[in-house]
This record gives sequence, C-alpha cells and structure tokens, in this order.
Amino acid sequence: MKVMKFGGTSVGSAQRMKDVCRLITKDGLPNMVVLSAMSGTTNTLVEISDYLYKKNPEGANNVIKQLERKYQQHVEELYATEEYKQKTLDFLKEEFDYLRSFTKILFTSFEEKIILAQGEIISTNMVTNYLKECGVKVILLSALDFMRTDKNAEPDLNYIKEKIGEQLKAHPDYDIYITQGFICRNAYGEVDNLLRGGSDYTACLIGAALMSEEIQIWTDIDGMHNNDPRVVNHTEPVRQLHFEEAAELAYFGAKILHPTCIQPAKFAGVPVRLLNTMDPSAPGTIINNEIQHGKIKAVAAKDHITSIQIQSSRMLLAYGFLRKVFEIFESYKTSIDMVSTSEVGVSVTIDNTSYLKDIIADLMKYGTVTVHEDMCIICVVGDLNWENVGFESLAAQALKEIPVQMISYGGSSHNISFLVKEADKKRALQAFSDTLFNA
Ligand code: ASP
Ligand code: MG
Repeated sequence: MKVMKFGGTSVGSAQRMKDVCRLITKDGLPNMVVLSAMSGTTNTLVEISDYLYKKNPEGANNVIKQLERKYQQHVEELYATEEYKQKTLDFLKEEFDYLRSFTKILFTSFEEKIILAQGEIISTNMVTNYLKECGVKVILLSALDFMRTDKNAEPDLNYIKEKIGEQLKAHPDYDIYITQGFICRNAYGEVDNLLRGGSDYTACLIGAALMSEEIQIWTDIDGMHNNDPRVVNHTEPVRQLHFEEAAELAYFGAKILHPTCIQPAKFAGVPVRLLNTMDPSAPGTIINNEIQHGKIKAVAAKDHITSIQIQSSRMLLAYGFLRKVFEIFESYKTSIDMVSTSEVGVSVTIDNTSYLKDIIADLMKYGTVTVHEDMCIICVVGDLNWENVGFESLAAQALKEIPVQMISYGGSSHNISFLVKEADKKRALQAFSDTLFNA
C-alpha cells in the first residue's frame, strides 16, 4: 500500500481537493492518504489560541467566525449534491461550535493542542465526504487512534505499527484510507502534535509502520531543487537523493521536507518520492538508499546562525576540554550544528540563541569567547566520501571570493558545510550553482 501525503496548499481550495481526489484514485489500488489542514488554517488556529491565552474571547470569536464562513464557502464549491453539502455543513457547525466552546473555559496548552488539531480533522472529513459523494469506497481513520508519541515526545513506532495494523484489519476492503497528518496523542493520551509542518513526519511514520512500497509527499514544487530557487538563478530539480543527503538538505534549509521525517523511512528502507500536484506527471525526486558515485547533488543554506569561538591555552594537550564545552550547551538544551577544532580552540554554531548570554558566561570560565551573529551555514550535499578526490577543493574553489569563517567536513560522507556571513549568502549560493551545477 502506498502512502500519499498532501500538504496545505494541495488541499487549499475546493478545486485542489478535487484534484487530490483524482490523484489518489487514479491507480485503482488501495492507498493510505495523509492530509494537512487547508493552507492558512493552522496559522489561524494559532491566532485563535493567542487570543484565548490573552483572555480575549471576543477576538477569538471574530476569527472563528471568519474561518467558519470560509469553510462554508468551500462546501458550496466542493459538493454537487444537497445531501453532502448538508452533511458537511452539519459537521462544520459542530466543529466551529466546539472551537467556540473554548472561549468559555480556562485556556492552557492542552486546550491549544486540541484547537490546533481541528484543521486536519476538518480537511480529512471534507475530502472523505467528497470521495463518498463520488462513490469511492473510502474510510477515514482517526490519527488519534494510532499516532502516539512517547515520554520523550518521540514517535512510538511500535505502538503506531500495532495500532494501525489493527485499524486496517478491522476495516479491510476499502479503496482509500484517509487520515490526518500532524496530530497525535502523547504518552498520557492527550491530544498533541508532531510540531509545525509535521504532516510529512506522519506520512513517513505510517509508511515505515506499514512497510509501505513508497511514501509520496505531494507539494506544489517539482521535487527538491539543487539550490534555493528563491535566491539563485537556474536551479533544477534533483531526481534522486540518498536518505542522508535528503535529511541534510531538509535540515539545512530546503523547505520542501520536514527535517526529521526522513529517519523512519530510512530505517524501514521505504523510498520517499516528492511529487508536484500542479504537474503530476513530472518525475519529482526519489529519496532512497542509492548513492550516485562521485556526484555533488545540491546546496542548501540555513540562516540566523550564531558562531561561538572559545580559545584557551588550557586546551593545549589537555583532555576533557571539549567535554566541558559541550556540557555547557547541553545544560542549556542548545544543540550545536557545526563544530571545528584546533589545538587551541573550538568553534561551534547554534541557531537557538535563547540562552546565549548564559552560555557565554559559562564558557568564559574556560577561555576567550568570540561571538558572531547573522551567519549562515551553507551545506553542500552529495557523495563526499573522503576517498573521492577533488570534491573538497571544487567546493572550496566556488567560494574563492567569499570570506569563510568555518568549514566542517568529514562528519559524514555526504556533506561539507561552510559558515559565511548571512549578507554573503546569495553570492555564495550563486557561486556554488555556477561552479558545481551550471559550469
Ligand atoms: N497543518 C500543520 C502545519 O501547518 C501541519 C502540516 O501542514 O504539515 O504546521
Ligand atoms: Mg510542509
């Protein structure tokens, strides 16, 4: 069974929902379909929650009303029959009354998570009703019945596997199974979510749990590009990526994919295909276990990076110095992206600066600390196995006119990262495209 996931813009209007329904029924095979909320809805639900946190029920009610009108309009456009229009309007009435009920009670993060879950609950119900109206044998499986995170807020894959297996066994012989992306229950059974953009993660977890033949992530761009099309001229879709390459690109800035979603697919060995709803016959990008030898595939950039350099003569020939430095970051729950060391110093980068002041104060016990803000990590991804010759110099050559503060290479066989000023990002990305891809 294939898993097909459609993001917010792919279900962003009645017409787009109809397009999705055509795509999921085209192969005539049973498919598992994961849907996001209609685009903009989750942001609106966050806005409603913000009003409620601020004890402004009137503000919340206004936004709820506007959102309700929008959905009523979608119903008019989506369904052909009065029966399904009415059925869906009744469902929406219940949903929006439920949202309004939160304006009358104490509001905490538990309530917020329930509110945020409604976007996916609404979109999946609407699409399921549409497919029913079209005569498709479809069933909506609630993600809240099988998606669960553990006490560390990590997906509980064994539980997911068992429960989704039970669901499919209890409901055989359907052509389409629809479920919600993003939403889940936590270890305490409360409604929770996999963080913003988490529907990709849902799809990959389900694909891994079912040992699916393929996980398809449908968006509105033709696969992963070899550079950022918003910044650089002449980018092209990359047709194939190794799981590790895709994970690096997603983490370092390729917005098309949720950064951690690749892991479950990789462990299960299930290929992930990125496809375009606007151009369904385009090949997109396949992510699997294959390495294209000696090939640099793509470049991605991550902004708003802060670098921290710690220099100390005490590091010279000392052991335990790095551990002490890393422990400081750990104690402030701040993760490090890049690391570079010399005999007398270590440089690291972070993107979460919430505890920067405290971190610096602690680091100063061990040496001189220098901080640079507004930096940018540029990550070059491909078959960068150290035994291949020439690729490090080729990548460095591209940046011959741009000041580089740090280089990190050898951490994996798939990337080299360069730290440059954010102000040089565009120039650096263009230089990489010109040297590596368009030469
Ligand atoms: N609807 C959620 C969000 O906007 C999840 C997703 O779209 O992947 O973050
Ligand atoms: Mg997304």
